Amino acid sequence: MIRARYIGSEIYRRSSYGPKHPLAVPRVSTCTDLCRALGWLPEAAYVEAPMASVADLLRFHTADYVEALQRAEAMQSVSDADRARFRIGADGNPVYREVFRRPAISAGGVMLAAELTLDGGVVHCPGGGTHHGRPDRAAGFCFLNDPVLGLLRWLDLGLDNIVYLDIDAHHGDGVQDAFHDDGRVLTISVHEAGRWPFTGSAGDRAGGAARNFPVPQGCNDSEFRWLMDHAVVRLIEARQPQAIMLQAGADALEEDPLAKLSLSNNAHLAVVAAMKRLAPRLVVLGGGGYNPFAVGRCWAAIWGVLNDAAIPDRLPPPAERVLRALSYSRAAGRNPPEHWFTTLRDAPREGPVRPLVRELAERAFEEGLPA
Ligand SMILES: [Zn+2]
Repeated sequence: MIRARYIGSEIYRRSSYGPKHPLAVPRVSTCTDLCRALGWLPEAAYVEAPMASVADLLRFHTADYVEALQRAEAMQSVSDADRARFRIGADGNPVYREVFRRPAISAGGVMLAAELTLDGGVVHCPGGGTHHGRPDRAAGFCFLNDPVLGLLRWLDLGLDNIVYLDIDAHHGDGVQDAFHDDGRVLTISVHEAGRWPFTGSAGDRAGGAARNFPVPQGCNDSEFRWLMDHAVVRLIEARQPQAIMLQAGADALEEDPLAKLSLSNNAHLAVVAAMKRLAPRLVVLGGGGYNPFAVGRCWAAIWGVLNDAAIPDRLPPPAERVLRALSYSRAAGRNPPEHWFTTLRDAPREGPVRPLVRELAERAFEEGLPA
């Protein structure tokens, strides 16, 4: 049994998209600090993510776009032409101090995760998960598409049967489109219906290479588990993939300020446990998530599950201190509930399974199983 590895980077601690941006909050550093405070992250398990080379990035991204990102970082500004063409400094994709280095390190981390799992194993890479990035432009706070680069690395190393599962509140459009019609990678996305980027309808199959589950607002743990048990796990079992990449965005949690789903982090933890059983290689990424307490607790608990660690009912004082040191300027941060400081695991948020959710599960099989 190969020990699970954690790929992180100190760049996430120092870097911000700007004080007013949803990504102003510390996420990866909170997760890393919590894992260390819990005694779950020995030095031997921690790997500092390398920065991807330009040649690595060109496996998916265009040279013009990569050059524009480097130019934006060097100049700390963008020309009108670059903004219009590459959407850098537009649409919530700000020019910030590390606008090239940070996404290049995320990409390097996910590509390394693919390499480290070539002979099997598990990697948690919470800095990855930028699933909206396009070959030639930024989109949805994502400058590069590190999941695509990691999946391509697996393919280039000889794998040909991969599942990409995305449980972020937003559709994993950039990854789905990258593997449109490509039977080697089945992309499965569970996301909030009617939310940006407004793609990923239940009938959207990307030429047979995708399954989409657009869930209604308020989606609870019971509904999410229904989809997993009746559709997602069945799809993956039928396929018997060589490797699974899980984008575990934390914005489908109820506490998230950007989405309107109502999951507890038990939903995420159950998915991680299930994926561990379904393939000999598993890479777990982060993704969205804009409440630093919810994100940090969720992603740290994921690392616990990957290591079969017992999640304590009450956090030990060093871990509690990590959470008490956070500041969160949104309204919810002014009166944070006590369990944000003292627990990792949320209380379950069970509820009725609406007919619409049952229909979503059934529709996944209406044209048979994906190739
Ligand atoms: Zn998201």
